[in-house]
Amino acid sequence: MTCPRCGNVVEPSHRFCEECGLNLRQTRTPVGGPLGAAAACRGCGGDSFGPDGFCEQCGHVRPSGRDRMMADLGLVAGLSDRGRRRSRNEDSMACGVAFGAAGQPGPASAVVAVVCDGVASTERADSASQVAADQAADILLEAAAQSDFDAEAATSEAVAAAFEAVTELKRADESPSCTYVSAVVTGTEVTVGWLGDSRAYWIGDALQSEQLTTDDTVVSLLIAAGISEEDALNDPGAHALARWVGADAEEREPHVRTCSPAGSGVIVLCSDGLWNYLPTLGSLDAAVRADPRPPSQRSPSDLVDALVALALESGGHDNVTVVAVPFPIGDGGTT
Ligand SMILES: [Zn+2]
Ligand SMILES: [Zn+2]
Repeated sequence: MTCPRCGNVVEPSHRFCEECGLNLRQTRTPVGGPLGAAAACRGCGGDSFGPDGFCEQCGHVRPSGRDRMMADLGLVAGLSDRGRRRSRNEDSMACGVAFGAAGQPGPASAVVAVVCDGVASTERADSASQVAADQAADILLEAAAQSDFDAEAATSEAVAAAFEAVTELKRADESPSCTYVSAVVTGTEVTVGWLGDSRAYWIGDALQSEQLTTDDTVVSLLIAAGISEEDALNDPGAHALARWVGADAEEREPHVRTCSPAGSGVIVLCSDGLWNYLPTLGSLDAAVRADPRPPSQRSPSDLVDALVALALESGGHDNVTVVAVPFPIGDGGTT
């Protein structure tokens, strides 16, 4: 076996490459987020910023590396954009690939993806969503390497870890919070967990697609209780979250479900910045199929690019984050 990064010969029992330090059991997006390159000034297009963080020519604040974050691990890709109206990006994502199984090296055995949407009414919502996504991804990747891997149990543990991480951000006067949706994808199964209104979809190459999540919103609860959709949507608090990840949350158990798709396709995770423009399964399905290739045959980075562009062209009122994982997962290019 050789290190996929530097080519050094590595012992199968080793967890890290002795030459370059690469983790041979997993790869993941950087903790803190795959921050984008410091962009040009939004005021004048210049690129010189003073130590105070403001443009030296026009005084605009320096754009954040969080404004547009791209992750591409080959088997999974994600894109998170600030959008056109919000002053900062409070969405976050974390993705990773676990290699080998039961502590032994081998090809990719699981892909994990997490999307969290910071609740904009709280300060430091961007920190909340990032630590939640990072913590959860770590728990899921670590679990996937174990011989007794149970994706549903790992998802519950990941959510508990996200709660712990977000709770550490609590101050006396504020409790930062976020939504949560994750997917653990293997060669045979997809396990999804969620709290809040970020969504997961299955888009099959053949014409069967499915929304895998149900929104934890007041409107969903009202409809479930028998109130008409029209009346529910007119309720002033309709879009408020019924569940979330935060120190002030009452309901902390995530919804968890596993499915075994019969054919190939792609799993799409997204924040409401996307689905507000594509609210029905049919509209999202059609947006993916606007490209003639079977969804699983497109590179996931191409797919997330197209969906984020659609949200921005539609107005970009909110932060938008999309992550795509083709199913079944590939071997990750290792031997
Ligand atoms: Zn190496
Ligand atoms: Zn400027």
